[in-house]
Amino acid sequence: MSLSRLFIRQVIRELCEEKREGIHVSDLVNLSICARKFWFDKHDPQIDFDSLLRMWQGKKLHDIRLGDMHEFEVRYDDVIGRIDDYNSELGILIDKKFVSYLPRDDKDVEHYYSHYITQLKLYYYMMIMTGYYVKEACLLFVNVNEKQPFREYIFTPSFDESEKLFKSLKEKDIKILNDKIPEIPSSFSPYDYPCSYCQYRPKCYYLDATEVNDNAKDV
Ligand code: SF4
Repeated sequence: MSLSRLFIRQVIRELCEEKREGIHVSDLVNLSICARKFWFDKHDPQIDFDSLLRMWQGKKLHDIRLGDMHEFEVRYDDVIGRIDDYNSELGILIDKKFVSYLPRDDKDVEHYYSHYITQLKLYYYMMIMTGYYVKEACLLFVNVNEKQPFREYIFTPSFDESEKLFKSLKEKDIKILNDKIPEIPSSFSPYDYPCSYCQYRPKCYYLDATEVNDNAKDV
């Protein structure tokens, strides 16, 4: 076997060693991006090699500790969240993101990475509900190929808004899991975000809808 194939096999083994059960915050985040993407993830998952490598690189870089609590699990209302870092003295929740495109400013974060903001709002809500003090949330973007590889995005989540988001996504999650594949949203196009970054784009737009729905009957 060539070394590159051996490397790929090891990467897959490392990434797949953790068995995931239950509803995770990352599931709810996918759902907030596109219900159809969430459906594919659950019923017919597909991970391309670039995504695998990025996930593996992220897993290694996540080992850097930035708070007194690091890589810990929070559970609330049957949802599981895995939080990167939390500084209890400052009340700050930190999520590290290893990206191929480093956002230039806050507007860029809000446009291209709004799902990560959603993720932090969900973590924030779950932490508050389980007794933590959280004042601020921070996304720390890293692109190791840039001269200035870091960008921070700090915000103060609203409790009411985060609670509403959590409850509505959780309710939607259960419904879609048991449904047939959702329609492509009318505002989406294959050439724009989020479809242009989605690993399901070819299948989603070109696979015959009847075939997809037939597959759904078997899940
Ligand atoms: S290609 Fe677009 S519509 Fe299809 S699953 Fe992906 S994000 Fe959703």
